[in-house]
Amino acid sequence: MNTSSQKVALITGITGQDGSYLAELLLEKGYLVHGIKRRASSFNTQRVDHLYVDQHENNVNFKLHYGDLTDSTNLIRIIQETKPDEIYNLGAMSHVKVSFDSPEYVANVDGIGTLRILEAVRILGLEKKTRIYQASTSELYGGMPENKNDKGFYDENSPFYPRSPYGAAKIYGFWITKNYREAYNMFACNGILFNHESPRRGETFVTRKITRAVSKIALGLQKELYMGNLDAKRDWGHAKDYVKAMWLILQQDVAEDYVIATGVTTKVRDFIQMAFSHVGFNIRFEGEGVNEVGILDSIDQDIYEKSTGLTLNALTLNIGDTLLKIDPIYFRPTEVDLLLGDPTKSKTKLGWEPEYDLQGLVEDMMVSDLNLFKRDMDLVKAGHQVFNQEE
Ligand code: NDP
Repeated sequence: MNTSSQKVALITGITGQDGSYLAELLLEKGYLVHGIKRRASSFNTQRVDHLYVDQHENNVNFKLHYGDLTDSTNLIRIIQETKPDEIYNLGAMSHVKVSFDSPEYVANVDGIGTLRILEAVRILGLEKKTRIYQASTSELYGGMPENKNDKGFYDENSPFYPRSPYGAAKIYGFWITKNYREAYNMFACNGILFNHESPRRGETFVTRKITRAVSKIALGLQKELYMGNLDAKRDWGHAKDYVKAMWLILQQDVAEDYVIATGVTTKVRDFIQMAFSHVGFNIRFEGEGVNEVGILDSIDQDIYEKSTGLTLNALTLNIGDTLLKIDPIYFRPTEVDLLLGDPTKSKTKLGWEPEYDLQGLVEDMMVSDLNLFKRDMDLVKAGHQVFNQEE
């Protein structure tokens, strides 16, 4: 039930990592939250199932609607029915590597999908009521070294040079959002978010792929981890912190675009080391390029046993075993080597401060993945069949 003072939000991509954390945040703040979910042949609402309440109850503040960013009439209908104060357009095909396989679809969803939302608001005459957040991305910069600012970062004034169909589609989303702000005086803003991760990150994204594989290796469920470019550098934050910035962006007096980042960049190989350290494994890298391998150098028994709940004697690995190999299949046709964002504007203007550092993020993801696979092991021991999504 909506009381007149209660704010109403509509989230596209509510079933994704950010959508689920944002829904939790807005519900805590007392919003009525509507979300758009896609019809799929299997369940895709796991990340928000805990928020769902029987729709026959009174004061239901969380509602899901079937829809798709490729379907304008459906978007117009949902926006007409919900009349949101705030729309967060988080829906997207968000995987950079996969965007090379389905570039036309990505352009339609990530690029034109943004236009469909903006146009729906305009067609319905809600330009003055509805504020719009557009999920823009650090992939717009493409990691071009010459485009960094004097301090060596990418900021709100750095030129764009997307290096993937995903980046190219998102650049349209960025500019059309800015254009509608300027052309129609709409409160439409871009958050240019650098990579943000969490235990809810999709299983095929590099950080989650690592924490899942390291957890399985530590539990004796997997032998090796296959990776692509270990030297790519990313500015990684925690999704819980980043959704707070999205909300802050729409609470300002003036609509503007903001970079959201930690300002710290880390190589993929260092993220891997941190994940292995969580279970007490020390990894040594040897070789070069596609022949590089990661070798188990030593194990800290206390850390291993504390983090996994298993005894070291039960582990079938030996010191000197190869735990990581390179598979060129994971190389991208055009790579973004370095991403490092300058959060000065978001910190000073929005007062945004992240609570997690990289160590805290890795720990959160490792604890969650270890628990996930330990629970699966217990279920298997009890005779249940377990279906896991695999990369
Ligand atoms: P996810 O991939 O976890 O979630 C994407 C969401 O979009 C899912 O709910 C998905 O639905 C939905 N979606 C996909 N295609 C469509 C479609 N055709 N119509 C409607 N919804 C669709 O992404 P994140 O939560 O990590 O990211 C949120 C947004 O922020 C995305 O736009 C992403 O591109 C952007 N972004 C993310 C960054 C990050 O590091 N995470 C960095 C910068 C920007 P389903 O569950 O059915 O697949």
